[in-house]
Amino acid sequence: MKRYAVGIDLGGTKILSALVERQTGEVIASVKKKTKKEKGPLNIIQKMQAAVEELFEETSVKKEQISSIGIGAAGQIDRENGILIGAPNLDCYDLNIRDLIMSHFEIPVYLGNDVEIATIGEMKFGAARGCDDFVCVFVGTGVGSAIVKNGEIIRGATGTAGEIGHIIVDLNGRPCACGAHGCLEAYASRSAIEKRIEGALKKGRHSVILDYLEPGKAITSGMIRKSIERGDELVTACVDEASDYLSGGIASIINFVNPKLIVLGGGLIEAVDYFYQNTVKKAKAKSLPVPASKIEFKKAALGDFSGVVGAAFLEDRKL
Ligand SMILES: [Zn+2]
Repeated sequence: MKRYAVGIDLGGTKILSALVERQTGEVIASVKKKTKKEKGPLNIIQKMQAAVEELFEETSVKKEQISSIGIGAAGQIDRENGILIGAPNLDCYDLNIRDLIMSHFEIPVYLGNDVEIATIGEMKFGAARGCDDFVCVFVGTGVGSAIVKNGEIIRGATGTAGEIGHIIVDLNGRPCACGAHGCLEAYASRSAIEKRIEGALKKGRHSVILDYLEPGKAITSGMIRKSIERGDELVTACVDEASDYLSGGIASIINFVNPKLIVLGGGLIEAVDYFYQNTVKKAKAKSLPVPASKIEFKKAALGDFSGVVGAAFLEDRKL
């Protein structure tokens, strides 16, 4: 086995790449680049190539020592052919990431999605280490999840199992980006909280979050945390509402899948402990007594690195 692999987390706003030691999961070096979807798909490919070259330069590791480059993209993917089928956040459609990167470096390349790589990272070296039966739920811009049974991620007939963000929590509810109404993501994501806060501010409600807002910039998880710490009523109410819905979704998963462990991660969970704690408490209270009696909750342990570490192990995956 070669000692190192490269993991790349290709998100809507940034590319994080890392050189990972395969025995220990240690991140030897990492490089971050911004993605600008206006510049087109080939620019994204070039940025990923540049990020990998920088890793080689920084560490003096040679490409002969690398077993593979694993890439997890925020979008719909064709694992078998290494194609990014659709990524609205990146404005990329039918992009053959695997072949483009492989022909450049002449190293095997594997493509997965962002939730998949973060789940593999947490399973191998993070909060789910030693557990082969768990569900990961990541809350950030959207809400994503993956179900792991016997140490394998359940894929489903079309490779899309685990879309917790699109379970329907309100039949006549808010519109979701997927085209349906009342999806969990429209209530429990950071973007959903952001919309609620902005709507209330427009109506003239006061909030200390105004101290942190900059025109044209999004509300971050950090701003939400600081506002809650200052006892802000509006932000606290919006976060409480999101955790009401998220805990309902998670309780449904506990009842339906009956996992041993739920790992909660993503920007909002990491930054806002109040949100994490409340969601756990409410999810336990809302699920059936028997599965609830055994369920364990953990926060994701690898933070920003869970994706890149997991991506470095995509080569071990069974398709
Ligand atoms: Zn949806």
